[in-house]
Amino acid sequence: MKIPYNLILVGPPGAGKGTQAKRLQDRHGLCQISTGDMLRAEVNSGSPIGQQARAIMESGGLVSDEIVIAMLETRVQQPDCARGFILDGFPRTERQAMALDTMLARLGQSLDAVIELKVDEAALVDRVAGRFTCAKCGAGYHDRFKPTRVPGVCDVCGATDFKRRADDNRETMVARLAAYRSDTAPILPHYQRQGRLHAVDGMADMDHVAAEIESLLA
Ligand code: ADP
Ligand code: AMP
Repeated sequence: MKIPYNLILVGPPGAGKGTQAKRLQDRHGLCQISTGDMLRAEVNSGSPIGQQARAIMESGGLVSDEIVIAMLETRVQQPDCARGFILDGFPRTERQAMALDTMLARLGQSLDAVIELKVDEAALVDRVAGRFTCAKCGAGYHDRFKPTRVPGVCDVCGATDFKRRADDNRETMVARLAAYRSDTAPILPHYQRQGRLHAVDGMADMDHVAAEIESLLA
């Protein structure tokens, strides 16, 4: 694998982007950039960006391109991204995809792969409804598909506090899926034309998905 290696994970909410991004981060030392996590941190801090984003995120809409593009530009240049990055939840619109191309050209970098996680829509509500994370270290779990080994205790750091996202409910999922279909799926042909798009079966179990992604990175 060349260094730096820059990739995008694309897929609807609950497809497994965060799960796979964390594995790639641990395995290859790439940095995971989740614009959703960055925006949630802004909301929690009560910053002006957070105040603007909160209601949009709660309703399942998309935050403005200007805000997320500016956040991303700062983030990709941080030292932990020196070996490359995994974009998780960005780009989500055609404008974001164009801005990313321009930004990478300016930084003298390139995009090495775009991996689409394909998951049946019917499975996605169950995926997000059962999702929870460790409040201390951020490790991700699922009530049924990835419970903690010891009930109520984080496998990674031993903490006993967990959180669930305010937008991980059936109603908001309808809007989030609609946004994926109308704004995000249409950017895929752009990467197809560049010969960078690879589809992976996201319905397989997490280890299989990870192995399939790994085979594409070589
Ligand atoms: P995304 O980042 O695409 O929204 P996540 O990686 O957070 O999705 O995954 C959503 C939920 O589904 C999490 O609770 C995760 O543990 C679970 N999950 C992820 N990948 C799989 C998989 N291949 N099979 C079953 N459950 C999965
Ligand atoms: P995620 O954690 O990727 O599921 O994102 C959660 C929410 O944050 C989304 O429903 C959007 O409201 C917002 N968001 C995250 N990333 C972006 C982005 N690239 N563009 C616009 N909105 C975003």
